[in-house]
Amino acid sequence: ADSEPSLLWTDGASLRGSIPRTSAPAHKYSAGALMVVAGSRAMTGAAVMSVRGAERAGCGITFLATSAGAAPAVDIALTETIVYGVEEGEFGGMSPGAADEILGRSERATALVIGPGIGTGEEGRRLVEAILAGTDLPVLLDADAVTSLAGTDALARREGPTVITPHAGELGRLLGSGAKEVSARRLHSSRQAAHDYGCCVLLKGSDTIVVEGGKTSVNSTGSVALATAGTGDVLSGVIGALLSRGMQPYEAARAGAWIHGRAAELWLRETGWPAESMVATDLFDHVPRAMGELL
Ligand code: AMP
Ligand code: MG
Repeated sequence: ADSEPSLLWTDGASLRGSIPRTSAPAHKYSAGALMVVAGSRAMTGAAVMSVRGAERAGCGITFLATSAGAAPAVDIALTETIVYGVEEGEFGGMSPGAADEILGRSERATALVIGPGIGTGEEGRRLVEAILAGTDLPVLLDADAVTSLAGTDALARREGPTVITPHAGELGRLLGSGAKEVSARRLHSSRQAAHDYGCCVLLKGSDTIVVEGGKTSVNSTGSVALATAGTGDVLSGVIGALLSRGMQPYEAARAGAWIHGRAAELWLRETGWPAESMVATDLFDHVPRAMGELL
């Protein structure tokens, strides 16, 4: 019989025990090796946010590919990360010609995050398409990478595990419908994207939705405190880390959203500060405590 697609409430109990633990014989590569492709001259912070989120969500090792002009500043902020400054193109972003180097540098990676702060120009689109065509590793696409794939068949053609993490504006651009339409029909829009592109879709905002195939879930954690610059970049790193550690896209997206939202709740409780005062870097120290509640 026909039935409505199921809708799950993502609470802590539904995730407990799902986060992989690193066992004693592990080394840094087997603990999850994530390549983050992020940042440009004007947006160095996006790259830092994503990588730091990934580190705290348990990656064994993180690599960052960013534009040559952005790399020196980013390198100082990321003590534990291997930073590659790659060929720079228009607007201080990465050039499409950098795709081969990035794919080569990803040889030991177990997942990729692509998008925060890379810019939405033509060169960014060609870069993202070239990377996607060159790897079957699990990939998370966020921010400018989602926007730039509007009107292309890069997502629909891709066979490797794929998660996209747009906010309403980015999903509106991808679907060609607009932010207003997506905001008015969040469930419908995220399900349509998951169907059309054959990937896992996480639609951000208050009440974050995760869809894959016939499965839909609504996240139970979070706060309006997250409505501040950079928090979405942290989320991309957290989910990227979980993918790199072997979780499947739908479970990684659900768990990442829960941890990210819970980290904000813990920050509010611990500081007693107004929600409006949160900055995205506040999340770093609370991601581990949030994740710890799921172990
Ligand atoms: P971005 O739009 O990429 O900067 O990501 C913003 C992050 O903050 C996402 O994880 C959103 O789900 C979250 N967020 C934004 N606004 C709100 C809100 N009003 N309530 C709860 N979470 C929010
Ligand atoms: Mg964002």
